[in-house]
Amino acid sequence: MDDILCAGCGIKIQTENENAPGYAPPGALKHNPVICRRCFRLKNYNEIQDVPMTGDDFLKLLSKIADADALVVYLVDIFDFSGSWIPGLQRFIGKNPVLLVGNKNDLLPKSTNPNKLKNWLRRSVRGLGLRPVDVLLMSAEKNHGIDDVMQNMEYYRNGRDVYIVGVTNVGKSTFINHLIRQSGNGDGEITTSHFPGTTLDFIGIPLDDGHMLYDTPGVVNLHQAAHFVSEQDYGEIMPSKEIKPKVFQLNEDQTLFLGGLGRIDYTGPGRRSLIVYASNALTVHRTKLENADDLFHRQYGHLLTPPSHRDGLPALKRYDFRTDELNTDIVFSGLGWVTVKGKGARVSAYAPSSISVSVRASII
Ligand code: GDP
Repeated sequence: MDDILCAGCGIKIQTENENAPGYAPPGALKHNPVICRRCFRLKNYNEIQDVPMTGDDFLKLLSKIADADALVVYLVDIFDFSGSWIPGLQRFIGKNPVLLVGNKNDLLPKSTNPNKLKNWLRRSVRGLGLRPVDVLLMSAEKNHGIDDVMQNMEYYRNGRDVYIVGVTNVGKSTFINHLIRQSGNGDGEITTSHFPGTTLDFIGIPLDDGHMLYDTPGVVNLHQAAHFVSEQDYGEIMPSKEIKPKVFQLNEDQTLFLGGLGRIDYTGPGRRSLIVYASNALTVHRTKLENADDLFHRQYGHLLTPPSHRDGLPALKRYDFRTDELNTDIVFSGLGWVTVKGKGARVSAYAPSSISVSVRASII
């Protein structure tokens, strides 16, 4: 059979894998022209669907941006920053400016200081070689801060095209669908005008001045929380609403378990507060340090959940810290973070290697 290309985006049509690019249900092949399901949804429902791609295909695609003169809007999930990182992003986008947008800020407690959070995001991406022109926060789902993002996009694109990039699950479709609704006249007519303006694998939405806003497929980052736990566990560790801090007064040589996925040992000096910011569904368990190993062996997947199933014991990687900021966050990417109050605390954190652990000055 000759390759059939989607009349919308040009991708090679395939009928086997619903979750891979170019999928069309077999019945769609009878139609002329043939379009992939992603374009079908866009055309008929004004709806962008994220199409996950494997790293190599995605990076090849992304490298086309380097040849364009455009603004790159890079969406990250502020709850899972490490999982949101696209390795090599700075190389693939060339000299184009990047606007960094932290999504899902509705999950953070109201007491979060947005400037501290932005500084942390800025520092984190700089450490990875990316220098964004600006850092913004929003909630695509709750429609907080989207207008500000749109205004800044307009400002920084300065008459050029825009490319929206992000790994899967950061909320890219939620955001773009919002933009589509905003740009349309509400009766669905916009779709036909969007439709022909697509380039291979990038779906284009026309902007007022004849330039385009391109949605790029989401790359799968295996360090994302969604990939290292089961779907059920992901539902538990990913907060569905604003997280409520849980305060613990710890004596020296006490341990907190974050379900079975994270552990923090506090060895001193003195008594102090540790505050856990994580999904309300994650059980936090306190024990004496001397009992912690035994508890983990016996209770992983039982008392210490998620994970909801015990399937062997994972090896945990250990990280040692001595806090030097007044209040320090130990961040377990995708799980949440623990604020350690006061300077000079000795803390050891443990997590499976899929969960990255880092420190930052407290964002509260
Ligand atoms: P994509 O894969 O990047 O296109 O991500 P989606 O737009 O499909 O969103 C992935 C998941 O994150 C979905 O369950 C969304 O409901 C959720 N989500 C998206 N934006 C937000 C947000 O601003 N806040 C919260 N709490 N969840 C969000």
